Amino acid sequence: MPNQRFADGEVVMGRWPGSVLYYEVQVTSYDDVSHLYTVKYKDGTELALKESDIRSQSSFKHRKSQSSSSSPSRRNTSRSRSRSPGRPAKGRRRSSSQSREHKDDKKKTIQEADLALLQKPSENNTRRYNGEPDSTERNDTSCIVSEQKLKPDLEMERVLEQYSLRPRKEEKKKEEIYSEKKIFEIIKTIEKASSKTKELEFGGRIGTFMLIFFLPATVFYLLMMCKQDDPSLMNFPPPLPALESLWEARVFGVFLLWFFLQALFYLLPIGKVVEGLPLSNGRKLQYRINGFYAFILTAAAIGTLLYFQFELHYLYDHFMQFAVSAAVFSMGLSIYLYIRSLKAPEEELAPGGNSGYFVYDFFTGHELNPRIGNFDLKYFCELRPGLIGWVVINLAMLLAEMKIHNQTMPSLSMILVNSFQLLYVVDALWNEEAILTTMDITHDGFGFMLAFGDLVWVPFVYSLQAFYLVGHPTAISWPVAAAITILNCIGYYIFRSANSQKNNFRRNPADPKLAYLKFIPTATGKGLLVTGWWGFVRHPNYLGDIIMALAWSLPCGFNHILPYFYVIYFICLLVHREARDEHHCKQKYGLAWERYCQRVPYRIFPYIY
Ligand code: NDP
Repeated sequence: MPNQRFADGEVVMGRWPGSVLYYEVQVTSYDDVSHLYTVKYKDGTELALKESDIRSQSSFKHRKSQSSSSSPSRRNTSRSRSRSPGRPAKGRRRSSSQSREHKDDKKKTIQEADLALLQKPSENNTRRYNGEPDSTERNDTSCIVSEQKLKPDLEMERVLEQYSLRPRKEEKKKEEIYSEKKIFEIIKTIEKASSKTKELEFGGRIGTFMLIFFLPATVFYLLMMCKQDDPSLMNFPPPLPALESLWEARVFGVFLLWFFLQALFYLLPIGKVVEGLPLSNGRKLQYRINGFYAFILTAAAIGTLLYFQFELHYLYDHFMQFAVSAAVFSMGLSIYLYIRSLKAPEEELAPGGNSGYFVYDFFTGHELNPRIGNFDLKYFCELRPGLIGWVVINLAMLLAEMKIHNQTMPSLSMILVNSFQLLYVVDALWNEEAILTTMDITHDGFGFMLAFGDLVWVPFVYSLQAFYLVGHPTAISWPVAAAITILNCIGYYIFRSANSQKNNFRRNPADPKLAYLKFIPTATGKGLLVTGWWGFVRHPNYLGDIIMALAWSLPCGFNHILPYFYVIYFICLLVHREARDEHHCKQKYGLAWERYCQRVPYRIFPYIY
């Protein structure tokens, strides 16, 4: 195999997969192992191409001048009579000015060819290369043809119809080019190559290595601080507990019991089964939606324990030991996940956790959807043991507060914290299906980051306010409580409606209930909403989430910053997450994403950021 023929940064002509059309692209990198070039098209789309699909600009121009009859630019102008998706619908035929524009196009060389013609969502995009049709915003949901990338027959049909490729002596060759097998091969090759993670996040190898220690250290630091009478930052470092006091086999046993009880609930054949979003190989995994039932069953089990006088504040008394147990378990789980991921087929690896560096892949998660039979480990851990565990911990804190302070009723602050967070968890479980379109499920692998996040960080850090209130009672008045409640409701409303709007739109863009929403079509077949919540800021769901986070901290008063750790950390997390998502969306949607950003300039906070 020859060495790299085209240099990084070189501008060449790259074939668009599944077609005979070449576009100007820039080589961004070359993979020695797969011998594939990663190239960037003018609209920002990045693909991996074989060397045979790349030509130098000079050779291309030369070839074109030799054979004008079969030049792609001519094909571009020849129209089929059939109703191809590339042709305007009856009611939307080209105006005369558009025809003139179209004729002018004939003069253009293939380098200037209309990439929009290749955009999969049909005639919405059939004008100019730069995605600037008269109006790219539609609320005509019928225009969306999702997943065409994975339907080569449609792709083939569309290309054939648009460019009248059927006759002529090259027919046999064309058939070969457009054969399903060939297109599938191309798509497979692209996806295989593009599954390698090139851009490392979280500070790369060093950053992820440090996070593996830093995250557990932060949890234990917060818990130790919270236990102090004066948890002010000035009181640093908190007295370290004796090492042997951190571990108790019984506590670990209770943790295991909890984990496997939740696993049992997950396996129960109750609740509907739905399909997730298509994977890179076109397959859709099935998920059982029974998180809410698991919550009800857990509530019944806890209720029974309380009825039989089980002291739930055992959790409070052994809180640190539970955190250590969960951390040890999540580390063991992460090691298992990494080892099993080494045997996973390439196509099942996470796009973000396949760098080839052990530490990085271990942290971010190497395998996208690790499953034992039908048991989806990531999906299970995302919402069950940690999230439901958080509610149980909060309840234990409430009972501990009553017991320690000899109260017949929990404090108003404790009631607010418990209620707000209960609403959040119940909402997540009630709308469990929505998680299937989130980054955690579709992009991030299952490794230390999510295992530790789901099983340790969520239950033990998110319950910090309730833990704090046990040791540091805070009295708030009814009007203050009412104001905080209103704030939480506003946050919740934004959070829920934004998430539902996007989730419903992704699941069924043709839903008549969403007909009022406008969107920008993109080359992938998916639209980007530009009205509704997603036209307000680019991540309205994060905005709602942050408002709620503030409402959860306020009942703890202003004596210490510790209970505000959550909201401060959460803003950092979501700002970082937003930047990651922007980056992915820019790669996915190219120019369409830029247009969306122009149209919706603020990322999370209106008029601020
Ligand atoms: P989002 O649900 O925000 O999804 C982002 C994706 O939405 C993008 O990648 C894109 O994916 C799609 N999208 C972006 N813009 C548009 C648009 N204009 N129109 C249509 N689709 C668009 O991602 P997260 O997974 O980060 O968040 C899910 C929820 O979970 C949020 O409410 C968040 O606040 C919450 N969360 C909570 C955490 C916690 O610890 N409590 C932690 C992290 C998140 P595509 O186009 O491919 O569909």
